[in-house]
Amino acid sequence: MIEVIATIGEVRKIVEGWKNENLGVGLVPTMGYLHAGHESLIRKAVEENDRVIVSVFVNPTQFAPNEDFDRYPRDLENDKKVCERAGADLIFHPTAEEMYPADFSTYVNVTKVSEELCGASRPGFFQGVATVVTKLFNITNADRAYFGQKDAQQLAVVRRFVRDLNMNVEIVACPIVREKDGLALSSRNAYLNAEERKAALVLSAALAKGKELLANGERDARKIESAMRRIIETEPLAKIDYVKIVDAKTIEPTADVKGTILCALAVFIGKTRLIDNFFLADAYKPE
Ligand code: AMP
Repeated sequence: MIEVIATIGEVRKIVEGWKNENLGVGLVPTMGYLHAGHESLIRKAVEENDRVIVSVFVNPTQFAPNEDFDRYPRDLENDKKVCERAGADLIFHPTAEEMYPADFSTYVNVTKVSEELCGASRPGFFQGVATVVTKLFNITNADRAYFGQKDAQQLAVVRRFVRDLNMNVEIVACPIVREKDGLALSSRNAYLNAEERKAALVLSAALAKGKELLANGERDARKIESAMRRIIETEPLAKIDYVKIVDAKTIEPTADVKGTILCALAVFIGKTRLIDNFFLADAYKPE
């Protein structure tokens, strides 16, 4: 069975051994309750690295007091099975105390890129993410780290602090894995009852509408967002947090669709907040 390591010291020792043998190390940071989306990241990491670490840590600093930290789904036994069948070498599963000693007082704060979208609705969220991911990079000394495009803004934030702080790790983006009916896989889908599960299809339906308008040549970002909002508003269980088209790199809203854009949304289905998105590269083609 795959090894589960709880302490920073032990991980460091193991990685040091690998590095002495010149082995390349991949890291897949997760909050556990692993599904096929996580598994695709792990498989890619296994393809591209000699050794792969999967971190399973529900990071308290990225949850606001009113959010779902306590009830976030956890299942380490299944996580072990997923990691093992995907070919990972070890799971790093620290306690909150191991990661955050009582007098912990240093945070990584990324401005601008983290201010729109999820950053606007979840204050402190990206500070928590940037801090824990920085710690994981330092602890594992990984050569490459794997992130899903499902969390597109997170990816932009990670890329930004890695560049700004000159971190020596390559960031690899992986495509969104979906259910057959279009719903993006998420650990939080476990919160949905049967009725909500059906209602959650408005997220991918709204994105499909956005894609359709773009394919037909619409370039007014606000018009596209409005059409997408109207689709979501047909679903009584859905409440929009945001529907936005932004520049993919800076995460700043754009009036006209040009360059590479990110079309992202966050929608509450009942009490569960779900996110989804798509990228469009080189959206602007001169007539
Ligand atoms: P989480 O456990 O939700 O923090 O996610 C850990 C990593 O898995 C993040 O980089 C996510 O973007 C990625 N991930 C989560 N869901 C999916 C999905 N459906 N497809 C691809 N990657 C995903």
